Amino acid sequence: MDPLPSPPPTSATPSDDVKRRLATPVEFIRGVGPGRAQLLERIGLRNAGHLLFNFPRDYQDLSNERTIEQLEEGRLQSVRGVVAEISATSKGFGKSRLAVLISDGTGHLRGMWFNQPFMRDRFREGMHVLLTASPKMRGLMWEMSHPQVTVLADEEATLDAKLLPVYSLTEGLSQYHMRRIEQAAVEEFADQLEEVFPSPLLKRYKLMPLVEAVRAIHQPADREVLEQARRRFIFQELFVLQLALSIRRSEQRQLKAYELPATAKVDARIRRLLPFELTASQEKAITEISADMALDRPMNRLLQGDVGSGKTIVALYAMLVCVANGRQAALMAPTEILARQHAETLAKMLEESRVEWALVTGGNTRSERDETLRRLAAGEVNLIIGTHAVVQESVKFKDLGLIVVDEQHKFGVRQRSALRQGDVAPHYLVMTATPIPRTLSMTLFGDLDFSTLDASPAGRQPINTYLVEPEQEPRWWHFVGERLREGRQAFVVAPLVDESENMPAPSVAEAFERLTNGELAEFRVGLLHGRMTSGEKQDVMERFRSGETQVLVSTSVIEVGVDVPNASVMTVLGADRFGLAQLHQLRGRVGRGSRAGYCGILLEATNEEARERLESFSKSNDGFALAELDFEYRGPGDLFSTQQHGMPPLRIANLMTDRDILEEARREAQLLVAADPGLKHADNAPLRQQMMTRYGKSLELGDVG
Ligand code: ADP
Ligand code: MG
Repeated sequence: MDPLPSPPPTSATPSDDVKRRLATPVEFIRGVGPGRAQLLERIGLRNAGHLLFNFPRDYQDLSNERTIEQLEEGRLQSVRGVVAEISATSKGFGKSRLAVLISDGTGHLRGMWFNQPFMRDRFREGMHVLLTASPKMRGLMWEMSHPQVTVLADEEATLDAKLLPVYSLTEGLSQYHMRRIEQAAVEEFADQLEEVFPSPLLKRYKLMPLVEAVRAIHQPADREVLEQARRRFIFQELFVLQLALSIRRSEQRQLKAYELPATAKVDARIRRLLPFELTASQEKAITEISADMALDRPMNRLLQGDVGSGKTIVALYAMLVCVANGRQAALMAPTEILARQHAETLAKMLEESRVEWALVTGGNTRSERDETLRRLAAGEVNLIIGTHAVVQESVKFKDLGLIVVDEQHKFGVRQRSALRQGDVAPHYLVMTATPIPRTLSMTLFGDLDFSTLDASPAGRQPINTYLVEPEQEPRWWHFVGERLREGRQAFVVAPLVDESENMPAPSVAEAFERLTNGELAEFRVGLLHGRMTSGEKQDVMERFRSGETQVLVSTSVIEVGVDVPNASVMTVLGADRFGLAQLHQLRGRVGRGSRAGYCGILLEATNEEARERLESFSKSNDGFALAELDFEYRGPGDLFSTQQHGMPPLRIANLMTDRDILEEARREAQLLVAADPGLKHADNAPLRQQMMTRYGKSLELGDVG
């Protein structure tokens, strides 16, 4: 079951009297009192309304409960019993084993945990627990490996609900008490809630009414009822989101932008600066972008193309069109390394031109930066390249005409409008190598236009990817060594591992130690990771670019766009830590020159599923297909999340798995906004208030109504 959200949405917008009731402090709710009230406050639950919308994060399914005697092998089942014996053994090196013997009067069952010493503290002899897992017969005893555990209060030892809610907790507050508190809140306050949806809408989409849904989500009679309740809240959440986006869109349409036409003369002047012939898909993108920029309303376009497809030059073209029209252009990169790289490309192109440009990064001194910012504000600089921080720090432009955001969609609405001057907004181009499924982006950003670079510049070599079994490692390193001796360069990528994590994985620092004392001892090796200062990073990168170091051992900071054509081999350690789309980006670093690129994925102690995933990866060179695969294996991650776009996170809905509901919600929201643009009708007041509470700030919705 999908986890449900814990923070409390304010879901109803009832009349004042009811509002007051729902604002009853938790302290006055049965089973709470001042002590627990403080604990609840810690997780943001201050009043009755908060409790009602503090949905369970999961449910314990008791419908497949069995006595130990009735257990069957290989099916998910639950057993309720008393802890009879606990035995923990530790073998050092983080290896430990915990066995908990449960008895239910019909037999015994052993729960087993490996390398999770903290589990020991959850059990006491004599306590009631519910274990859920798929059991196996071991010798003469049933065994569950890493079962889900629910500690039951004595009263619950004989409870007969089919689905037991599981809430997020805080230290000092037990699941049992939380359940009782929630139950009390639901009994006492749920019927106070006022419906936010007009009733025709409830009917049309067969949505469970609010009061019923709140009850059902806390105390579902069965799975089906629970699904109905969840569907209602998912619909509500997505509907409110779509309302907000729809209203924002209509507000956006009123914005103006500078007209920046790419006249024949401008076009010819820019083309003289380009270092190579453009590909057909680059030409097409440029045509689309130029058409947008010629209009007096802001362009809002996504340029997507696989790694190495040549997005940068398209962006630079657009920026030069802007500058030719006498307006300023800004390019923002996600990392300093990338900002620098773009600056180098630009510097080469502009050697002979009078365009004034500047680079601002965290590496500048205070006074350098102040000077650049002053010149920007005065209009003495036409074109600026920098990291995202550039804009976050409220840079003042004289008249910004175009903003380009590289490799990132995390540039929120608010940062964008910070760059607006009165009613005039800059044209906006965002570049990404991470494919967004079209249906999704259409729904989320209906006003975003797409340009796609679908062919790589001619001469690009495919990247050969190998899965390297542990026994083949010496051969792989031998191969890497040969490339290095031929004068090529190499990347080694490893995850940056936090000491707080308890998953074993090679960290980048360890890898550096090991390799420089072993396989790569005879070569010049550099180390790069995101925790270095920007000066350090720049040094390391510069030495690699110039060929002074032959190998760069790095975290995924090189994922986005680093361009060193002489690097043709990459070795990836701890690959199952990365998503496939991310690995694809990484691998793209060695397909840049005219020689074939090689990527070796060291399999180490990789599990079956990860191996299967990496297997598909080694066979595909298609970033879009890999992104879809990633999604299948790993779920949506936060790639498609609202946070990526500067909005608050969704609490219950999931943009990928709830796509059907998203579609319905979108259609209905558009109808509503068309019929009542300001949401002024009294029936719509609750929805309007909810929308403003949730998105008013992040989407900068004007005071509609
Ligand atoms: P990405 O889309 O990943 O940002 P880049 O813009 O960094 O790709 O381009 C990748 C490489 O291809 C760069 O070295 C760039 O100079 C080169 N390139 C881009 N367009 C062309 C072209 N039309 N002909 C030849 N090389 C090109
Ligand atoms: Mg790029």
